[in-house]
Amino acid sequence: MQRYFANKKNNQIIFSDSDIHHITHVMRMRVGEEIEVVVDQHLYSCLIDSVNPLVVSINYEIPTDCEIENEVTLFYALAKGEKIDLVVQKATELGVKKIILLSSERCVVKWDDKDAKKKIERFNKIVKEASEQSHRIIVPEILGVYPLSNIPNELLAKTNLFAYEKEAGNTDNLFNLILNNKNSISVLVGPEGGFSEKEADMMINKYHFHPVSLGKRILRSETAAIYALSVISFLLEK
Ligand code: SAH
Repeated sequence: MQRYFANKKNNQIIFSDSDIHHITHVMRMRVGEEIEVVVDQHLYSCLIDSVNPLVVSINYEIPTDCEIENEVTLFYALAKGEKIDLVVQKATELGVKKIILLSSERCVVKWDDKDAKKKIERFNKIVKEASEQSHRIIVPEILGVYPLSNIPNELLAKTNLFAYEKEAGNTDNLFNLILNNKNSISVLVGPEGGFSEKEADMMINKYHFHPVSLGKRILRSETAAIYALSVISFLLEK
């Protein structure tokens, strides 16, 4: 069944304009039909009372178990445009709660404030659609862009992993750190050109990230993010 994220105001369910269009024109829903709506992290079966204007009422709450219990955060240093779209979408499917965009020395993309605002709007649309598609009840938050040297402390997790290709290729560290993490975990993935040694030192010594290997092969930045988040969700949901 089609799922939508909406807000509640004065006991009424309020949809975005694009969802109203989708419900009434793309899906051509009629009075009396049922849709699933997520409001404040609760999933409801709703019935359509009127199409124009769109009014729905809650039928009943549907129990769900689709979220990873732990907070999972992805720190992602800007890669090329369409790769970020892909990473943001896949990270959502894989259960992250926050995506924090970073800029670093070897980032190919440089955004000014106006670019960043526009891009983040676009990423917010991607995470909302990916959350609907993957039947989540939480839409990940997208924050940034922060310079690597200036990550706000409160965004760090209890356990912070740093995917570092210069680690020896042994994934034991990754495995153990995920299993021993306390409630919240993050993973940092670098851009195509990787991080400089100075940056890697800073992540390890200033922010206390744990360097981890993602195996013996060098992965592209987007593959590394998807790999790390897949391993995290697999181990946390086991
Ligand atoms: N240009 C670098 C590779 C960068 S790969 C080189 O050729 O050496 C892009 C990012 O993916 C890296 O910054 C790292 O975060 C991650 N990554 C790729 N392969 C990895 C591996 N085997 N182990 C850990 N991290 C990896």
